[in-house]
Amino acid sequence: HAKQSGRSTYRFFAARMNVEAVAHLALRSGLHRALERGEFELHYQPQVSLNGGTLIGAEALIRWNHPERGLVLPGEFIPVAEDSGLIVPMGDWVLREACRQAALWQAQGHKLTMAVNLSALQFRRGDLEKAVGEALAESGLDPAALELELTESIMIQDHEAVMDMARRLGRMGVQLSIDDFGTGYSSMAYLKRFAVDKLKIDQSFIRDVHTDNDSAAITRAIIQMAHSLNLTVIAEGVEDEAAGIFLRDHGCDQAQGYLYGRPMTALRFEKTILDGAISSDA
Ligand code: C2E
Ligand code: MG
Ligand code: MG
Ligand code: MG
Repeated sequence: HAKQSGRSTYRFFAARMNVEAVAHLALRSGLHRALERGEFELHYQPQVSLNGGTLIGAEALIRWNHPERGLVLPGEFIPVAEDSGLIVPMGDWVLREACRQAALWQAQGHKLTMAVNLSALQFRRGDLEKAVGEALAESGLDPAALELELTESIMIQDHEAVMDMARRLGRMGVQLSIDDFGTGYSSMAYLKRFAVDKLKIDQSFIRDVHTDNDSAAITRAIIQMAHSLNLTVIAEGVEDEAAGIFLRDHGCDQAQGYLYGRPMTALRFEKTILDGAISSDA
């Protein structure tokens, strides 16, 4: 009995593993084709100053405009792109496209920064400096308007090489920020040595910052720490007016979240964010 059910369990798992492996392979080759055919697009989410509410920047977020499935979110394909190494050419495209768009908006008279997410593989690769340099040169964007977002996990892996890369990027004049801050393992010493410019408080703390004592305490501590290290601090995932008020009252510099605008196409960003006041129904 036991043997039999063991065997069928095994068969079940083997079959499921096959289905997953095939799906993974299909996704991999789909991503290669998508890059060749230009099926990726960037959406932009506004970032605002909490002191006055003005637009200060945008974060570029990748989407896959799949011919059959429609818009696919990065949570589904970034891990596969990282596994296969495709994240490197994909990341180069993101850098060029985000810089091109930012330079265009700047030329139209809008003063804003552009934040771009980086994966560990891009950061560890020797020629990230070259990719960033090319995206800046091609677009003519002021390096100070480009902000590269890295995660705490990037900082702790191979940190001498990563720190060296961070320094070189800093010398080019680009800004560095730590995304999802508070969920990883970075210490204050790392922050100091990395020449980071900005911390992005993770949305898990912001979601209930106005109702949960622990989230409120963590958020206040991050704001204080950032300011004592002379860093800018931004809250991400701000959905409620009450959270926005809490953050402003506690000295947080900037915010990003559905309250101020969802990620949207460049065209919509121009129409609803750049050509008018920021509206929360974007
Ligand atoms: P992230 O960089 O932390 O981006 C914030 C995510 O939170 C985005 O999800 C955004 O749409 C979502 N978000 C923003 N405001 C709110 C809010 O008020 N409430 C809620 N519930 N969510 C909010 P998205 O676009 O699905 O991206 C997920 C992650 O994928 C990003 O997290 C980033 O780690 C990664 N990613 C996105 N684009 C790129 C890219 O071009 N390259 C790399 N390497 N990673 C990317
Ligand atoms: Mg980010
Ligand atoms: Mg700097
Ligand atoms: Mg984040």
